[in-house]
Amino acid sequence: MKNRLFFTAGPSQSYPTVASHVQDALKRDILSISHRGGEFQVIFNNVRNGLKRLLDIPEEYEIFFFSSATEIWERLIQNCVQETSFHFDNGAFGNRFYQTAKQLKKKALRYNVSDGESFNYGSVLIPHETELIGFTHNESSTGVMLDFEDMYAVKKQRPDALVAVDVVSSIPYPVIDFSRLDAVFFSVQKGFGLPAGLGVCILSPAALKKAAQLTEKGANVGSYHSFAELKAYADKAQTPETPNVLNLYLLWRIIEDFEKKGLQTIRTEIDEKADMLYRFFYTHHSWKPFVKQEQHRSRTLAVIETGEDTKRIITTLAKDNIEIGAGYGTYKDTHIRIANFPSHTIADMEKLIDKLEKLG
Ligand SMILES: *Cc1c(COP(=O)(O)O)cnc(C)c1O
Repeated sequence: MKNRLFFTAGPSQSYPTVASHVQDALKRDILSISHRGGEFQVIFNNVRNGLKRLLDIPEEYEIFFFSSATEIWERLIQNCVQETSFHFDNGAFGNRFYQTAKQLKKKALRYNVSDGESFNYGSVLIPHETELIGFTHNESSTGVMLDFEDMYAVKKQRPDALVAVDVVSSIPYPVIDFSRLDAVFFSVQKGFGLPAGLGVCILSPAALKKAAQLTEKGANVGSYHSFAELKAYADKAQTPETPNVLNLYLLWRIIEDFEKKGLQTIRTEIDEKADMLYRFFYTHHSWKPFVKQEQHRSRTLAVIETGEDTKRIITTLAKDNIEIGAGYGTYKDTHIRIANFPSHTIADMEKLIDKLEKLG
């Protein structure tokens, strides 16, 4: 029995079917099976094929598994950048991608705008030597959501550079044309409503080619999670290490659940819930969305300026068994963050708004 409702940014509310899938996993001995055996290969292939069907990923794209999105930042830089990366940085997560490149001693460049803002694409100059361009589709620290059309346009301008997009806190909401991008990555504890500890990265043939070139040149591409190593094992429907088998199993089952419900229905419901939420704050006398320009406001994670009411809102809701997120970093005491994922039903959102109404 679930007793709390989580609107936190991640981990968040688990998808309603997760509990029964965990029971199934126990019944099927998923916790004990070998990661070198046929049963695991079935799980691996079901996740890979399921993601390709669900998200409409081109056949020639590879899907690799990691421990988190944080790990993927590092692996992308190691495997796709010899010298220079360029980062669109409008908050803490985009900045972490940039910092990761710096920590790995790359020449990391960035276009940085203030928190709560999106980018002025016309004004950005991406140097010709740039090997990888990093975007954060949904900046979870501020609630700014980018438009994929803008990222495709950047790719079109700089076809030689690989474009990598963090979709951790938006997937499966956006419709993505993977053929116009080189790396799209996420972890599963947000939109997929699963336990943390599994990252997924979808890679274009160009990204794999770049990784192969760097490997050949003798660049430091890492060890067990180099793309070459991952590819060698993926070709056998395996992973180099003993992976998070349980989470892979659960991801397979959730993909099936999403397919049964229909991604279009899931997306429509997210829009409906986002509209409900923003409508409430639109009419509120003092609590306002942090992102001033409506077209840049996230559909999957609302960040609201609540000032001195912040603590009272969070603690009062918690007493009612509703957990919402505090602001990110320096906004901890002045913002609230409310996730709007497939796990949250319209009734859940109504309940939250009802409680918020009584609070303020
Ligand atoms: C949560 C989050 C991450 C980090 O995910 P981990 O699974 O903790 O590594 C990265 N980017 C964005 C946009 C996020 O919201």
